[in-house]
Amino acid sequence: MLTFRGGVHPPEYKQATEHKPVETLPLPTRVSIPMSQHIGTPSKPVVAKGDVVRTGTLVGEPTGRVSVPTHASVSGTVADVVEQPHPLTAQKTVFVVIDSDGQDTPDEAIGEQDPAALSPEQLVAAIRDAGVVGMGGAAFPTFFKLSPPREKPINTLLINGCECEPFLTADHRVMLEQPAELVEGTGLLARALGVDDVIIGIENNKPDAIEALARAVAGTGIRVQGLKTKYPQGAEKQLIKACLFREVPSGGLPMDVGCVVQNVGTAVAVRDAVRFRRPLYERVTTVTGPGVCDPKNLRVRVGTPVSELIAACGGYNGEPAKLIMGGPMMGIAVPDDTVPVLKGTSGVLVLDPASAAELEDCDCIRCGRCIKVCPMGLAPQRLYYHIRSRRLDDAEREHVMGCIECGCCAFGCPAQIRLVHHFKYAKSEVFARRKKK
Ligand code: SF4
Ligand code: SF4
Repeated sequence: MLTFRGGVHPPEYKQATEHKPVETLPLPTRVSIPMSQHIGTPSKPVVAKGDVVRTGTLVGEPTGRVSVPTHASVSGTVADVVEQPHPLTAQKTVFVVIDSDGQDTPDEAIGEQDPAALSPEQLVAAIRDAGVVGMGGAAFPTFFKLSPPREKPINTLLINGCECEPFLTADHRVMLEQPAELVEGTGLLARALGVDDVIIGIENNKPDAIEALARAVAGTGIRVQGLKTKYPQGAEKQLIKACLFREVPSGGLPMDVGCVVQNVGTAVAVRDAVRFRRPLYERVTTVTGPGVCDPKNLRVRVGTPVSELIAACGGYNGEPAKLIMGGPMMGIAVPDDTVPVLKGTSGVLVLDPASAAELEDCDCIRCGRCIKVCPMGLAPQRLYYHIRSRRLDDAEREHVMGCIECGCCAFGCPAQIRLVHHFKYAKSEVFARRKKK
């Protein structure tokens, strides 16, 4: 079974939602849409308080080379354009707040077109104009990955259907419920890139999704590849290694080895953007964890407060102890449930006091377990010592910047050391230093 070196196999905890079809959340009465939902420079608001917008109307225009537009996710009236802390970074970000009129009137620009009539350049432009970003969590602008420099030709498109994070099942349901849309979007991505070699990689704990997609790709030339169930199989570099035996160089990108990787949800969003000129303003997300009564997969509008998702799942199961956007391995804790769903919100995980309890860390016992599981071939224990001793130059020399923050090292550490916190800190320091130079 194809896989990569290292990694761990945490308990999957997917049974609460993996067999539950996606439900559509009723329209929210108010949405708060941050202008920064993607890697790169934020969008700039182009609406003001009192403006009337429709679902899909442009509310933020891109501001740099790596930036995408932002759109209204409901029709109604702009209630405010306000600066607030970003739910994931806590940095001040501009939000466009819209009061829904309950009509969900689509913007005039939305409408069907024939994708076959579009050139590769027009496909990329349609994907950019729809604000499509990576929906697996990283939120990298999709059009940018489709525009590689001339000296880095792409020969393979990998579609990521691994969903290796415990608890999350949104991608699994998309593969089961929208296989035709997913295959159409994949074909459009391949045409935009000009590649024939296309693989959809799926962990073998989702045999129904492998089967559904194997049927859907019949006659298209797209291959479906089952992969060993192991975390982080869905990380770009590990997926490339498993499917193609290619190694992305340290500090490099998939395009350095002729690859582009896109998530399954992104492929469906690409299909909607190209065929219907429909901007990315809603997504499927999993609401789950021991702290919520009735875990579900929900289709939700971007900007919907998390509290409305929790209410749709029967509310909290007792007193919630921690809310995480994403999965337990790489997700980010958010301050409360007033934060909005973003384009990259693959899940909302609610922990109860028992599951959120943090164990006391102790001294490293030099067991070497972290080295054995690091999928990037790093020595986390050595990096940790360098960082604790404020030897950031040594940590940089030993490739701390190559850490993908997957958490495998911390997951297996018998001393309960919060290794990833140290690596995140070191990376931000090294990054800031490099910027100053
Ligand atoms: S796993 Fe933890 S205790 Fe073992 S060597 Fe790594 S840091 Fe030390
Ligand atoms: S968090 Fe970083 S150091 Fe730890 S296992 Fe993952 S890549 Fe390796």
